[in-house]
Amino acid sequence: GCEDENTSVKSPNQLEEEVSSEKEPTSDDTIKIGFSMDTLEEERWAKDKELFREELEALGAEVEIMVANEDAALQISQVETLISNGVDLLVVVPYYTETAAAIVEKAHLAGIKVLSYDRIIKNANIDLYVSFDNEMVGQLQAEAMTNLVPKGKYVYIGGAITDNNAILVKKGVFNILQPYIDRGDITVVYDQWTEDWNPDNAYKNMLAALEANNNQIDAVIAANDATAGGVIRALKEKGLEGKIPVAGQDADLAAAQRIVEGTQTLTIYKPIRALAKEAAERAVQLASGEDVEADRVINNGKIEVPSVLLSPIIVNQNNIDETIIEDGFHSREEVYHP
Ligand code: BGC
Repeated sequence: GCEDENTSVKSPNQLEEEVSSEKEPTSDDTIKIGFSMDTLEEERWAKDKELFREELEALGAEVEIMVANEDAALQISQVETLISNGVDLLVVVPYYTETAAAIVEKAHLAGIKVLSYDRIIKNANIDLYVSFDNEMVGQLQAEAMTNLVPKGKYVYIGGAITDNNAILVKKGVFNILQPYIDRGDITVVYDQWTEDWNPDNAYKNMLAALEANNNQIDAVIAANDATAGGVIRALKEKGLEGKIPVAGQDADLAAAQRIVEGTQTLTIYKPIRALAKEAAERAVQLASGEDVEADRVINNGKIEVPSVLLSPIIVNQNNIDETIIEDGFHSREEVYHP
């Protein structure tokens, strides 16, 4: 294993553990990955957790997982624990894209490489980034919405400003909306981030948007399905559910059910198994000191980060069967007969 190169400073206890574990050479060779997650709030992260573990175990690696519950300081201390537990590589879903740079520094000081999972860590020497194309997520949402509603008043309910993905998704949306805005066809009458991606915050923002516009709104683009759920709750309260098209992201079960029922127009499906598999393969390669293939580089404010970006898929009533149901992401039964 890489244990010897990876650890520089050790407490006497840790040294003892290592000395005694040398007597069992079999477990020494197993690659151990530390997975630091931000949250399990949204449904997708439970899939990430389970599928990433499955993919790593299929490659003969072990994983230790810690969840920071949207607390930047806790995430850093959990990473310290993972490092002192002797992980060979860190995989991180950062809560706060900016402060997470400290995580990368700590890992590198201990000789451990860092893979940024789903969300990039900014201004840090991360070794690899594996995600979906987040800008494309926003573009797909806005292309579909502008086809449906080429003119009118739009509301944009963004994600958490602390999450670089929220910024990328928004960029993708406005890339598509801009020419419509310039022509005067579309007016964005309300545009807010959603603190911590919290559905209650999205609900309150949507109520404010409705009130400020006398309910005269023609389309809503929400950054994910959790926030879309908050939006639809607000619409329901005004008797407007199913009357104003709403876009989301993640293909949460609740969103799939709303699409079938007609209260949500579309979602963006990101096959989590594919992400977990790509990340697991490369995590094991990085941890073993092998060369790792990337498709492109992305500038994170500090370096050009080798990156792998998978393609998101748009899902609406017409293709829900041949996408999320055919893939087994959700069963037909749970989507159509909740
Ligand atoms: C992810 C989304 C998720 C959101 C909230 C984003 O970084 O890309 O899939 O809904 O975080 O957890």
